[in-house]
Amino acid sequence: MYYPEDLIEEIRIQNNIVDVVSEHVQLKKKGSSYFGLCPFHNEKTPSFSVSEEKQMYYCFGCGACGNVYTFVMEYENYTFLEAVKYLADRAHITLPTPELSEAVKRKIEYKQQLMEVNREAARYFYYQLYSERGNKALTYLDNRGITETLRKKFGLGYSNVYRNDLYQYLTKQNYSKQVIFDAGLTNKDKKQENTYHDRFWNRVMFPILDVHSHVIGFGGRVLGDGNPKYLNSPETKLFEKSRNLYALNIARTSRKSNILMVEGYMDVIALHQAGFNNAVASLGTALTGGHAKLLKRYTDEVIIAYDSDEAGINATLRAIPILEAEQLSVRVLHLGEYKDPDEFIQNNEPKAFEKLLETAEPSFIYQIQRLETNYRLKDPVHKTRFVNEIAKLLLRIESDIERDNFMETIIEKYSINQSSMKKLIADIGKNTGIISQKKNNQPKTKKKPSEDGLFLAQKTLLTLITDKKNLYTVIKDHLKPEEFTDDLCQRAASYIYNSYEQGQKIVPATLINHFTELAEQTKMASIFNHKVAYKHPLQLEKIVNESIKKIKLSNIEALSRSIEKTIELQKLILAKRELEHLHISLNDG
Ligand SMILES: [Zn+2]
Repeated sequence: MYYPEDLIEEIRIQNNIVDVVSEHVQLKKKGSSYFGLCPFHNEKTPSFSVSEEKQMYYCFGCGACGNVYTFVMEYENYTFLEAVKYLADRAHITLPTPELSEAVKRKIEYKQQLMEVNREAARYFYYQLYSERGNKALTYLDNRGITETLRKKFGLGYSNVYRNDLYQYLTKQNYSKQVIFDAGLTNKDKKQENTYHDRFWNRVMFPILDVHSHVIGFGGRVLGDGNPKYLNSPETKLFEKSRNLYALNIARTSRKSNILMVEGYMDVIALHQAGFNNAVASLGTALTGGHAKLLKRYTDEVIIAYDSDEAGINATLRAIPILEAEQLSVRVLHLGEYKDPDEFIQNNEPKAFEKLLETAEPSFIYQIQRLETNYRLKDPVHKTRFVNEIAKLLLRIESDIERDNFMETIIEKYSINQSSMKKLIADIGKNTGIISQKKNNQPKTKKKPSEDGLFLAQKTLLTLITDKKNLYTVIKDHLKPEEFTDDLCQRAASYIYNSYEQGQKIVPATLINHFTELAEQTKMASIFNHKVAYKHPLQLEKIVNESIKKIKLSNIEALSRSIEKTIELQKLILAKRELEHLHISLNDG
């Protein structure tokens, strides 16, 4: 944590959740809560509730929940620190500058300088576009149908035909030669020492922004026939190509259910112009695992819409496994007769692209189609090889249901015999060890329901002791916080036990501040939005006893797995027997 807990809490209190949510969702008061349409899932009747008293939100439709930090993180795709900064700003609270070492400070300052010089260069290019010399660049953009709004939104500019135009401008603004060079804006002269030339000249300039909208580099398209057609900034301290995507700063807040992955700047801009502001492009490099990780922060589904030529097809086939390795679901768009999304948009209405998106194919089907082009299916030998390849692809699908569904589609389409396909999959699986591995994993996957039961037991007890102090006084003697097996539940239990012992009130919204990951906050909030249903006090007693037993038993089992000495094992058996006889009567409490 970078800031003191008290400050984090103060910021939370100063931002009334009802006000913050109201800036994005229309809320209506109903009883003690406010209701509105959930911003996190599609719905027509409001199931999104905000409690002013608890300072928490909860959606009965999709289960989204948390405090004001969670809301901002989920709505704006912010990290916890970004949410803290945003809400502090909103409440006019000044955040202290964190204590840093000299070396770290210098590093940050230097990065800041690189960012500044990049921003200044972007500004310069932008003005050049509207000067007389920028006329041909402007005409070029006009011809491509890029409106002024879009030019502004993407900060497009022009670099002059002179070889050290920008360099001279920036040195006049007191930027050092080294900083300008380190930002990737100049090249060193090969013969004359200490002489620099502009890296970009006679090009339409596309500033590249990171997710926080800082200019970190540029792409430039040459005007006329110069080479190369597209030139990018080199890798710098700011600009890591494998960790940034063009236009992700805009796409991440698009509220669309997926992100469109395209090849070029012009594709991105054309799509944004047509209303598809969820389009991004990798920056003149092939897609990397770093890109996939970055995308996973903002979406669960990627639609690849690369160029329809051979290179685009190969890039698509390479990108699919990289994206899927990050648990992203992938679909591929067929552009038909058009060479890229830009060309499609230039020749069709946005509605047509919307329709086309619906036809985007699951990556598996796309891969099979590409595979098919390598074989003459009328030839039995070729067909056998083809079917073998299909079986291998099917084995890569983790979900059994999904695999069965795809298998059905495929065996129908290519008239493959179902039982021989199943046998083939089993054979390949055995040979490559995949099937036997799966069998070993089976008990684990089967255990999951009981693990969920265990989590429910912990959630139930936490909910009950939060709501009723008298229950806490009984339960605390039988169950210690460290006995909770789930890490988050354990931390919640420590907080609740401590608060009661110190005579403090339990404020779930405060507890959520202690977690910086959205998933943790949501899980924690769900603990406190849990309802324990019972009609009779005896039912409650049963719930409490069963929950405690379940948790204790799980602890004993975990211990028994690690113990080797017989004596210790006997102790465990004893503990297990005692547990069977445990009965907590709530009437005594
Ligand atoms: Zn919802």
